[in-house]
Amino acid sequence: MRWKRKREERDLEDYYAELYKEEEYGYPAPHSYELEEIEIESKNEYVWDSGLEYFKELVIQVPIEFLALLQRLEEELHTEFAFLLKIEENLPYIRIVDWYFPRQRVSTGDVEILERKEGYEGVVHRHPNKVECFSQVDWEYLNKNYKLSLIYCDGRITDCAYRVQIGNKYTWLTKFRVDYVMNVDIEKLIDKIEKG
Ligand SMILES: [Zn+2]
Repeated sequence: MRWKRKREERDLEDYYAELYKEEEYGYPAPHSYELEEIEIESKNEYVWDSGLEYFKELVIQVPIEFLALLQRLEEELHTEFAFLLKIEENLPYIRIVDWYFPRQRVSTGDVEILERKEGYEGVVHRHPNKVECFSQVDWEYLNKNYKLSLIYCDGRITDCAYRVQIGNKYTWLTKFRVDYVMNVDIEKLIDKIEKG
């Protein structure tokens, strides 16, 4: 049987189509792909459970100590390198809560991650060559395998791809901003201040 979608799901698809129309990668992204037909036909009704809502951009929350670590490694290495990321999603917010440095094979133009880690659905890799966005190779071999992919280049996060399901396709949201966050409750500190 043909899969069905509720009205709000079609609206959401249209919304993102509009939002991404002028995006560098186009919409649907050249990297999106159809869900397996058989997977859809096995369900009586198509289930919409991506948690996607109407928002203009993702907010990637990067702990400042992790940024410092990336910057430190950047000083040491002239090559690419990658970290696996544990993430918490409360869209549009995606928070990096842990990071793991896997065994990897690197060059100035490539990184191959040789290890998987349970529960780490994100990846960030460094571009040492001032290229701030994903390469075609990144799209073909890396981004597909992770829910969240980030580029680190010259001291900051410069590109983002978050894999979602819209309609009958997997695609990637790439509009984002970065919030560098501290695991410190500033309010608690401020509460201790007595004004003289
Ligand atoms: Zn790359």
